[in-house]
Amino acid sequence: MTIDLSVAFQSKSTFDSEVNGKEPCLGGQLREQAVWVDESICIGCRYCAHVATNTFVIEPHLGRSRVIRQDGDSTQLIQEAIGTCPVNCIHWVPFEQLDELRAQLDGMNLQDLGKLPQVSRRINRQKS
Ligand code: SF4
Repeated sequence: MTIDLSVAFQSKSTFDSEVNGKEPCLGGQLREQAVWVDESICIGCRYCAHVATNTFVIEPHLGRSRVIRQDGDSTQLIQEAIGTCPVNCIHWVPFEQLDELRAQLDGMNLQDLGKLPQVSRRINRQKS
């Protein structure tokens, strides 16, 4: 059996500019929008995380839902998860907006949903 080594020099060395992510060989269609949770409104009910389990997780420190990956579940399943949200805080947004939205959330100093609101301690004036 002979192997034609010239084949190695015939393949393209640059990306085809026509590639757009929607080719069947890349696993199907690329979504044109990203899914994002507005954590400032999320009440941590976990419905979305129970439906689209590869997309949403409950962030352990804040107790609010967060998208951990964009390609974990089908669009239909994510849409179903969006439909379960009682406060409508899951949105489709342009991919380019994700960093800006994340930065806005980081600047809000959100409170942990699993903790009671912080109150000032009372001063004990009685001496024991
Ligand atoms: S369904 Fe909505 S409110 Fe409930 S955890 Fe998910 S994003 Fe938050």
